[in-house]
Amino acid sequence: MSTQGFDHTVDWLVVGSGAGAMVSAIVAHDLGATTLLLEKSPLYGGSSAMSGGGLWIPNNHLMAGVGITDSYDDALAYLRAVTGGVVAEARLRAYLDHSPKMAKYLCEKTRVDLVSLPEYPDYYPNAPGSRPGGRALEPKAFHAHNLGDEFLKMRETAIQELIMGRVSMTVAEARILFCKTPGWIALMTRLMASYWLDLPWRFRSRRDRKLGMGNALVGRLRASLLDRGVPLWLSTPARELLVEGGRVVGIVAEREGRTLRIGGTKGVVLAAGGFDASQSMREKYLPNPTRAEWSAANPASTGDAIQMGIAIGAAIGLMDDAWWSPTTVVPGEARARLLVIEKSLPGTIMVDRKGRRFVNEALPYNDVVNAMYEKNTPEAPTVPCWLVFDATARSKYPLGPLLPGAQQPDWALPGLIRREYLEKADTVEALATLIGVDPSGLRATVTRFNEFARAGKDLDFHRGETLIETYYGDANRKPNQCLAPIEKPPFYAMETFAGDFGTKGGLCVDEKARVLRENGEVIAGLRAIGNCSSAVMGRTYPGPGSTLGPATTFGYVAAHDACGKG
Ligand SMILES: Cc1cc2nc3c(=O)[nH]c(=O)nc-3n(C[C@H](O)[C@H](O)[C@H](O)COP(=O)(O)OP(=O)(O)OC[C@H]3O[C@@H](n4cnc5c(N)ncnc54)[C@H](O)[C@@H]3O)c2cc1C
Repeated sequence: MSTQGFDHTVDWLVVGSGAGAMVSAIVAHDLGATTLLLEKSPLYGGSSAMSGGGLWIPNNHLMAGVGITDSYDDALAYLRAVTGGVVAEARLRAYLDHSPKMAKYLCEKTRVDLVSLPEYPDYYPNAPGSRPGGRALEPKAFHAHNLGDEFLKMRETAIQELIMGRVSMTVAEARILFCKTPGWIALMTRLMASYWLDLPWRFRSRRDRKLGMGNALVGRLRASLLDRGVPLWLSTPARELLVEGGRVVGIVAEREGRTLRIGGTKGVVLAAGGFDASQSMREKYLPNPTRAEWSAANPASTGDAIQMGIAIGAAIGLMDDAWWSPTTVVPGEARARLLVIEKSLPGTIMVDRKGRRFVNEALPYNDVVNAMYEKNTPEAPTVPCWLVFDATARSKYPLGPLLPGAQQPDWALPGLIRREYLEKADTVEALATLIGVDPSGLRATVTRFNEFARAGKDLDFHRGETLIETYYGDANRKPNQCLAPIEKPPFYAMETFAGDFGTKGGLCVDEKARVLRENGEVIAGLRAIGNCSSAVMGRTYPGPGSTLGPATTFGYVAAHDACGKG
């Protein structure tokens, strides 16, 4: 490709700065390519930085160390079973071939240091080839001093992943704190002390310099890019793909008030996220009703890359789907909070407008929102629905923005939460009236649920009977970790929405992340990874880290293939 007519040319041009984008840039650099990342917003990291940072990598090199064996064949059997034929076998195989290599590469050649989470199970324990843990990896905590001034340009962790909206933790630490396993008080004290004693930084910013979860992953990747001198241009939105002779040769971007033509001799990789923040695209493609405010993901995910691909004839797939999770919208907070754990905790239920349960609340979050849409009718809407709980659950567990009542009683809640968010009444019937739910319906549901809870057996929905359901339950609760009666006043309700971690529909790609036309032909020079590509996981969410695992893996694959090492 000639460099004529371009303001700037590199070999490998990366649009976006999430984890997949960064992995792709690092690998291309290491293979000898000149590389540049373009990021639309003034902050890098996207949803990846906000995330839990988990990567679902079957058969990874760290599993043996935690005493769990795995095999390619078992992983393939599992993926085949849970994706149910929606995804081309070649893509499933590519994922399983390359994801362990990608994880090992990161651990050996970059600042990324991963650990395997032995207790975090696959989401479908009854599917063939599943594992009770070990496939989920998380980055070790990372200190922000490694990033210097670049730290405050990273998008912040989602508020729900911080203790009291400030103190960061790893997934492993979160589990100890949540389940109150032995040592939790010492851990909490240590985390708090490390935060408050970080002087004089405490006077400069409320952000914790000990990074955990998605901030640790993106921080480690950002440091690896800095080590290599790979440039990342912030506030530089890509606007349009440049095509010459049927091949994508670069993009048009805006930077500092100028329109730039930037070339990519080995290609362009779109890693610019999904369309979760675009209300118009949500209404057009996702099941309705839907609202951008229900999403917990990056507000800059407005589907730009998908639109750019469509404009040059790329095919799109899975656009009606998302990485679903019930969410709660808290007044005064920038993004919705995911309700991943709350719905499994004893003494909570989700109900429709008639006051009826409609799903096993402890199912994987993706399935719960699918049920919300399936069961949604004008007579008994489930989008939105209500999470109902009693004073015992309120006092013991963190629920949405509420710390356990034992630490933060109702009188100590912020006024906005008390006035505009949390619904509360002295009887079940009064609560139902307050939230517009049928009082006799809710009473009957609670009475029936309480019988199940006392017996430890949910005869209606079988809540708390599989490993993934109990993972988020209360380990100290017997006989069922996910069940307790809803009996102690006051009673509470939290409105619950059909939210998401991001959308999963996007440009159709092959096993090398090459973007395809409707007729299956490859669009030369163009790749797509992460949430702007149609998900390799199809319509399912196989295990913890099922979105970042593919984004990083196909970033790795795309760079290798583009650099002739595929
Ligand atoms: C609270 C939360 C927790 C999560 N936890 C996990 C988890 O533990 N494991 C997991 O697998 N997934 C998790 N997810 C989901 C995961 O974060 C996303 O699916 C993933 O980060 C998507 O990666 P991406 O590269 O597609 O997009 P992003 O990481 O969002 O990166 C895309 C980047 O592109 C930029 N961009 C957009 N348009 C343009 C443009 N025109 N030009 C240039 N740049 C552009 C965006 O600003 C953004 O920075 C979580 C999500 C949330 C919100």
